[in-house]
Amino acid sequence: MLKISTAMLAMTMGMAQADAQEGMCGTSPIAYTVRHVEDNRFQIEASFTDHNGVFDVGWRVAEGTQDGQVDFISDLHALTAGGERVELDYQGYGTWNVPEARRDDVVRIQYELDADHDRAVWNIGKEEIAYRFDDGFYFVGSAVIVADYSWTDCDFEIVMDVPGDWSSVAGWATQDGETFAAGDLRELLRNILVTGPDLQPHYAEFEGMRVTILEQAELPENGEVFQTLLEDSIGRYVEVFGSAPVDRYLVVFGDDPGTDGGAFANSFGQRMSAPARMGEKLMWGRILAHEALHTWLGHAIYSTNGWELQWFSEGGTDYLTGKTLYRSGQIDAQEMLFIIEGQVRRFFLGRIASDDIDLSEAGQEKQQNRQLVYGGGALFHLMLDAELTARPGAGSYEALLWDLYENSDTGWSLHTMLSFLDQRPRAWRQRSTPSSTRLSIIRPS
Ligand SMILES: [Zn+2]
Repeated sequence: MLKISTAMLAMTMGMAQADAQEGMCGTSPIAYTVRHVEDNRFQIEASFTDHNGVFDVGWRVAEGTQDGQVDFISDLHALTAGGERVELDYQGYGTWNVPEARRDDVVRIQYELDADHDRAVWNIGKEEIAYRFDDGFYFVGSAVIVADYSWTDCDFEIVMDVPGDWSSVAGWATQDGETFAAGDLRELLRNILVTGPDLQPHYAEFEGMRVTILEQAELPENGEVFQTLLEDSIGRYVEVFGSAPVDRYLVVFGDDPGTDGGAFANSFGQRMSAPARMGEKLMWGRILAHEALHTWLGHAIYSTNGWELQWFSEGGTDYLTGKTLYRSGQIDAQEMLFIIEGQVRRFFLGRIASDDIDLSEAGQEKQQNRQLVYGGGALFHLMLDAELTARPGAGSYEALLWDLYENSDTGWSLHTMLSFLDQRPRAWRQRSTPSSTRLSIIRPS
């Protein structure tokens, strides 16, 4: 299994890359308790033996909030081993400091969470933050978990203290659905947790990858369609890359007029309006297959600095998603052409909208330069596929992806990625397999 580096944390959270602090884990695991108090109120507590004196929560501007995610956090304080309360100094932007004089005394932090995030409009989509999930709650770790960001390589335990008729589902590992484990800080923060009454997850198994699927009450009638689409795309990704990078995966569907998706370490969340309309399958099917593909392209094959390969992973994910849906018969040739035309159009629009910055720079402000990042990246992959098919032969593009995936343990920079692409064409040809030889995407008649 590939090691997913903690550098992804810096990438996905937009932080400067933090050096792992040796010894900050103390006697692991660091233990979190998530206690439901009443209504939409929770109390969250973390117990630890070592810390850096600085605690953070993911922070974003959102319409309807004064201070992003911090609006929903109150009474954050630390405690000593003897239970004495220590006030923290709030620095703004979701950062709290422990007063220097009390640093060595602090062994716990505690705070209240008002899970009322629906009242804000999050520009990246609420599936990246938190929302009410029927009578329960959907949370992304980074939006609600306050942590010391130097705990990069620590083990975490998360205990759910919720009413007896509730259940909890998360991207974290679990035996009993009450106690969860995360192997590092990124896994703790970049995962979905859903807790509440009447959750009805169902399960699918793909080559050693156990997938949990959970939908809001209005959506299950489409469960079979989602499942087939997931099976077709995940099955195909396993074939292209040779294996699955994770042994568990959670997929959560939320009922919402907006359609969007967010991918995390072992989970992704998607919103669509219920009931899911088959006429819109091209739209939500692409999002679903896109987010699932990020497990390989974006998370396993990742960029060490966070932004300079956004075009490669986002564009490549868009491109291979279309190709996969087409190959599996989920969309027809006309729809595939429509997708490719859209990608070309996006690139040209992006060229206008983002002036003359290059594809790599565009990743620094991914949302602002979306057209260029997604369109330009997809076009790059399309041309790469076409060129490789014309030269080393059909299947070479997929063999390249396999090769990248197998060599992704330490991540990529723009430079190492491009030299890898330049150096390996012969190997891809040898690796191409019969199952992936008929890969000319579309021949316009
Ligand atoms: Zn994406």
